[in-house]
Amino acid sequence: MNDPQRKDQESHSVQDLLRELFPETHRELFGTATGDAPPTLGLYPVADGRLALVHGDQLAEFTPLDPKHRGALHCDLCHHTRSRTEASVYRVHVAARRTRYVTLCTHTAPCQGRAGERGLLALAERIFPIEPYGPGER
Ligand SMILES: [Zn+2]
Repeated sequence: MNDPQRKDQESHSVQDLLRELFPETHRELFGTATGDAPPTLGLYPVADGRLALVHGDQLAEFTPLDPKHRGALHCDLCHHTRSRTEASVYRVHVAARRTRYVTLCTHTAPCQGRAGERGLLALAERIFPIEPYGPGER
């Protein structure tokens, strides 16, 4: 019997078998994307005091500015009032020649803990989507 779909079915059943027998391997190979898994969301410290905001496959880079501000700062993420040693103003390029300024605690882990998933999502919604721009358009 000549069934052209047979190959397809086989590869499907291999994937299904893998999921049943080796769920860890299946997750590694195919991810946990079952449609309802929330996308990655978080702020991650990168080089030179910068922070990277990641939401799914979107990424924005927050560059700290030299502190000129002498008073207290109000964190845009956890909404706590911080001294200027505890927070910093960050610049984010959101499009060609368009920047946004965000105040964030310098210790981002406890800040994100205070803000929670909902706070991070609100921040991501303010920043994303980033409009694509060329290297000369900053
Ligand atoms: Zn904060």
